[in-house]
Amino acid sequence: MSELTPLMKQYFSIKEKYHDAIVLFRLGDFYEMFGEDARIASNILQIALTSRDKSKDDPMPMCGVPYFSVDGYITKLIKAGHKVAICEQIEDPKLAKGIVQRDVVKVITPGTHIPEQPKENAYIMSIFPHQDMIGITVADLSTGEFIVYETEKSVDDEIARHEPREILCPYSMKDNIYYQEILKGFYVSYYDDWYFDYTESYKTLLRYFRVSSLDGYGCSNMNAAISAAGALISYLEDSQKILTFKKISVLNQTSYMFLDSSTKRNLELLHNLKDGSLEGSLLWVLDETLTPMGGRFMRNAITMPLLSSDEIIKRQDAIHAIIEDYELMEDLRTTIRKIQDIERLTSRIISKSAGPRDLIALKGSIEHMPKIKKLLSSSKNEYIREIGNNISEFIDLKDMIDFSIVENPPVNPREGGIIRRGFNKEVDELRNISVSGKDFIARLETEERQRTGISSLKIGFNKVFGYYIEVTKPNLHLVPDDYIRKQTLANCERFITPELKEYETKVIGAEDRLRELEYEIYMNILEKMQKYTSQLLETSAQIAIMDFLLSLSTVAKRYDYVRPVISDSDVIEIVDGRHPVIERLLGIKGQGAGVRSLDEKFIPNSTRIDCKENRLLIITGPNMAGKSTYMRQTALIVLMAQIGSFVPANSAVVGIVDRIFTRIGASDYITKGQSTFMVEMIETANILNNATERSLILLDEVGRGTSTFDGISIAWAVAEYLANKIKARTMFATHYNELTDLALIIDGVRNYNVAVKEWGDEIIFLRKIEKGPADKSYGIQVARLAGLPDSVIENAKSVLEKLQKRESNTLIPRAAQMDLFFAGDPIVRELLNIDVENLTPQKALKKIMELRKKA
Ligand code: ADP
Repeated sequence: MSELTPLMKQYFSIKEKYHDAIVLFRLGDFYEMFGEDARIASNILQIALTSRDKSKDDPMPMCGVPYFSVDGYITKLIKAGHKVAICEQIEDPKLAKGIVQRDVVKVITPGTHIPEQPKENAYIMSIFPHQDMIGITVADLSTGEFIVYETEKSVDDEIARHEPREILCPYSMKDNIYYQEILKGFYVSYYDDWYFDYTESYKTLLRYFRVSSLDGYGCSNMNAAISAAGALISYLEDSQKILTFKKISVLNQTSYMFLDSSTKRNLELLHNLKDGSLEGSLLWVLDETLTPMGGRFMRNAITMPLLSSDEIIKRQDAIHAIIEDYELMEDLRTTIRKIQDIERLTSRIISKSAGPRDLIALKGSIEHMPKIKKLLSSSKNEYIREIGNNISEFIDLKDMIDFSIVENPPVNPREGGIIRRGFNKEVDELRNISVSGKDFIARLETEERQRTGISSLKIGFNKVFGYYIEVTKPNLHLVPDDYIRKQTLANCERFITPELKEYETKVIGAEDRLRELEYEIYMNILEKMQKYTSQLLETSAQIAIMDFLLSLSTVAKRYDYVRPVISDSDVIEIVDGRHPVIERLLGIKGQGAGVRSLDEKFIPNSTRIDCKENRLLIITGPNMAGKSTYMRQTALIVLMAQIGSFVPANSAVVGIVDRIFTRIGASDYITKGQSTFMVEMIETANILNNATERSLILLDEVGRGTSTFDGISIAWAVAEYLANKIKARTMFATHYNELTDLALIIDGVRNYNVAVKEWGDEIIFLRKIEKGPADKSYGIQVARLAGLPDSVIENAKSVLEKLQKRESNTLIPRAAQMDLFFAGDPIVRELLNIDVENLTPQKALKKIMELRKKA
């Protein structure tokens, strides 16, 4: 250490404190990285790795990036999974005695990095399990949201719901295998357990939110959540200069439909299953929002469908009113489109990190508020008028920005050129001095040319010498005596004169002072704006809701959706329903394709399901016929209805559903090393243990992962349990035709199949759901459609024939057993109806005799 330069000593003393982060060390106009940091970063950022002090035996590797483009580089480092510490010069280099003081002003992690995705939140989530509860806090530094709640359910469903960029956990969780499995693939930050201590956390929250109790937020009895929340505040305070949270919001879980992680994934709500991108998801179809906050609202609404029919109907009424009033809808769309991300702009104002351009953006947004307010107040719908009432006009705030800030300011508030003429006298004076000084210097050039007779004489400026007079070599003999030589270049020399320097001092002095003064005034303006921030956030929230409603109206109109009847009964009755996403995808594919095939248009299908006569629908039909599409379409229509959206159908009645469960496909788990069958059974167990009479359950091919008889038996038992015990509305797609016999012994079971037409050796998918079981499985025909070589198809056919023969010979005893069990035989029915608990041995014997006679 003693051999090091003072600068490197300073670097190492800082690096020591932030050894787990890549330290970006500010040196003038660059951020430099050294040592191992430089090696890692140069690789990720694809920038040259050089070294400091090359003459030494082991020169220190280094690389750097310009300060003005640092954001892009930080993003890349964060995406590569690193933590980044920003070390700034914390005193003015001009005033520094010796080496400029530096320190880390910010530590950036995925959860604290300002995102590039406007329509997505950048959540950091803190979790703290305590007894049977898991305390959860979800916060977004860029919008100021701070949400707390507790759950008894599994934490991975909560993680899936918020898709956090970073998860904060107590250190002790590091050894917990269960959590380690759940947290796999996420950026996790561990924090000392004592930060999660209830008393500590409670105190932290009181201090941060400047309150004397948490009662006002409605979370004072949520011990686990308070621990998670307090720890998160401490963690963020450690790494950030200023936090932007203004209040604690408590998420009331009983108001929302609970969606577990596999359902969210299987129904492709926010991402498609294929590559995880947006295209092909429900969000992709529904999101026509025009503002970033509207986009975020839509995303959250899709993962949090409502349970209260009143709340749903309120949204429906508003959408109906918007669709009815086309002119209002168009006016609103044109105006709301101009609104920028006021939520994030406000957060930057709160943290005083907003730049002058942010204020111009804010002004450009709030200036439309009076118009929006007026438009909303003209609506026939009460909810829309109420939204209008909650929007502020911000006339004063707009004037304040208008009078103080120029129209095209620079990004950086320290650069000067921000404050509008006429706003501050001193600024104007300093600007005059600087301008007149510059004018003088410009005039001086002409005068000096005349005086010396050197027509190529130029006055220039650089940072090292300030203003200088430049004379080319051939003219040097004409240079007057009062010129003082400063610098010799290849083909010219540079001079100064006392007069030039005098003006230079004036100009530069004025410019320096001006910059400082403008910065001071600017920060003052930010301070004055603080009083508007609560109102700004409220207005932003209202614009988000309005934008969300407009988006649903636009989609409803464009794609011909209908308003579903929301009911508190158990009936779901959809007439000619369509799958919202596949209908769009087919629409796109079909465009201009020229050839009309059956698949070109989506074929609508109806659904009737309730908790009584139609509570278990068994859907059979060959692979690829459309079973899973039909089930998903039903679930999506229900879900859409519960977020308030209109739905793709001719008409629909939706009896509110408390949860949607899905057991569909398991391909993405196979890579995690669990067997398909095991995953299938875990998911099925979850459904059987948690579903209620108000749930909607989709089961696709349960039992497929094991041998046929095992599979059929499990599927049968599961179906029976759901129909008899839970009585939940269930759709069960299967290619085990045997399951269709369930309809014979349980009243509420109905058989449906997806129609196909045989055409010689081939089949045509009609995509139409019809009553009754499918008559065969058509596996080989489907294989042919999929493009298996002809020879393989022929071989398969002959194997099938042989197998069928064998089944009728060698498998007879087992098949007979299965038949006895499944046939829905009157004897079996009678057997099942016997009240065994109250049967005396004598009566039992008598019953056996009776049954034997019937057999
Ligand atoms: P299954 O579950 O029976 O194997 P899918 O539901 O996966 O079949 O359907 C296979 C494909 O058929 C889907 O990807 C879709 O493109 C098409 N399809 C399904 N239902 C319809 C429909 N009602 N109208 C048009 N195409 C459909």
